Amino acid sequence: MAIKRSSLFNSHNPVNGEVIGTYPIMSESEVGEVVSRARETSAKWQKIGFNGRKQVLLAWSSLILNRIDQIGELISHETGKPLSDARLEVGMAANHISWAARHAESILRTSYRRPGLLMANMAATVERSPFGVIGVIGPWNYPFFTPIGSISYALAAGNTVVFKPSEYAPGVGMWLQESFNENAPFADIFTTITGLAQTGSAVCESGIDKISFTGSTRTAKLVAAQCAKHMIPVVLECGGKDPVIVAADADLARAVDATMWSAMANAGQSCIGAERVYVDEKVADEFIARAIELAATIRAGAPGNGNYGPATLPSQIKVIQTHIKEAIADGGICVYGGPDSVVAPFVQPVVLIDVPENSAAMREETFGPIIIINRVATMREAIDLSNASAYGLGASVWSRRKGKKIASQLQCGMVAINSTFAFATIASLPFGGVKDSGSGRVHGPEGLLEYTFARTVVRTRFYLPFKLLSFKRRQKDDALIIKLIKLLKGRLG
Ligand code: NAD
Repeated sequence: MAIKRSSLFNSHNPVNGEVIGTYPIMSESEVGEVVSRARETSAKWQKIGFNGRKQVLLAWSSLILNRIDQIGELISHETGKPLSDARLEVGMAANHISWAARHAESILRTSYRRPGLLMANMAATVERSPFGVIGVIGPWNYPFFTPIGSISYALAAGNTVVFKPSEYAPGVGMWLQESFNENAPFADIFTTITGLAQTGSAVCESGIDKISFTGSTRTAKLVAAQCAKHMIPVVLECGGKDPVIVAADADLARAVDATMWSAMANAGQSCIGAERVYVDEKVADEFIARAIELAATIRAGAPGNGNYGPATLPSQIKVIQTHIKEAIADGGICVYGGPDSVVAPFVQPVVLIDVPENSAAMREETFGPIIIINRVATMREAIDLSNASAYGLGASVWSRRKGKKIASQLQCGMVAINSTFAFATIASLPFGGVKDSGSGRVHGPEGLLEYTFARTVVRTRFYLPFKLLSFKRRQKDDALIIKLIKLLKGRLG
């Protein structure tokens, strides 16, 4: 769809609806121009090498940490989350920038492979080549941490980046670009473009080399379909319905504490937040009692007044309300809070139990401060129910003795045993999901490899006395080669 030039949109404070910024809705041709400039710059950015890029990225990471209060306030303003959460998000993101900068060279350096007996005269190497320009499309829930997981790894690998932040956090996106450019050796290495869905769609039409998308599964499918038309590869980091499995031998105090935080922090708006608990029936009553007790100490409120903020996205309120009402209609029981806990823009904690597996609240991402606790007779049942979801992002397992065994049977991209969320903050670990939660990985070595492609290079070191890859190959060479292959049982190396 064509976008009118110079259209504008506002970003709002979700606590009171106040306009806090006005930004251009960039058109397809404007996006195309930005991508062209990024492409022109791409060769220069590659040429400055790993060390040059490392210096720029480390300086950026330091600058971010020096201004953590400033950017923390902006994040808190645009999303409504508490300042302390916003600052933590920034600190974790700075760690990713520095990790990507410090490890890119060792992970992406040219590797030498064994050429095997028949090709012993060849040098066989694999180079990791940056794609050129990476388009990053981001969400609003962690508007700093999440896109940095793509942006910093793509930059460290030698790509230039064009970033389309969520229309609910454009100010954070602009801040990222401006802060990067304070230490950039030249322009157009990292550019933020603003706009709504159509501007995101324009990135897919811009001749970009790869897209790293984070957002809902619904939009991911649109992005993937659009990119498929142009053979543009995609990384898709989408939603989840993360399960928590609690065995009878779990440390219940810790399990409840971590699960409630995982479910309710950031107003439940975490892709890897706990949404459903499968607890062994032998300890279920105690788990539920502790969860209720803890819920009573948690309050939603404006930054400074609550443990977590409002629903950032006004339309999410309806989804949350519907999930609670349908869960009750389907036979679930509210043991803390209920439909009245939703007073837009805030949602107070809700604890539901015994919700049937086919209820929307058990199948779809709720993205609200709600936790559903269901009893199971065995850990086998807990594993099967966890895996029955269309999603496969993260999971938590709580058990003193069986954690690893249970974790190994879960169909998901990341599992925390006797913990939660930890995999997102350990920079050396890949982050991502399977099934409707997406494909590809950000963070860690896999995240660096994701923004490069393998370029295979073979070089003749010396010539052999027979010609294998030639019409001049002789019959006696054929016989010798087959004899050798048979002798080695096909294991040429
Ligand atoms: P969303 O899908 O509504 O939007 C994400 C981005 O896509 C925005 O920038 C939006 O403008 C853009 N967009 C919308 N339509 C587009 C189109 N047709 N073409 C191209 N771009 C388009 O998601 P959201 O509401 O911003 O984010 C919340 C979702 O993100 C949740 O489902 C959450 O679980 C998920 N999420 C996943 C991760 C992860 O790493 N797996 C991290 C954070 C959030």
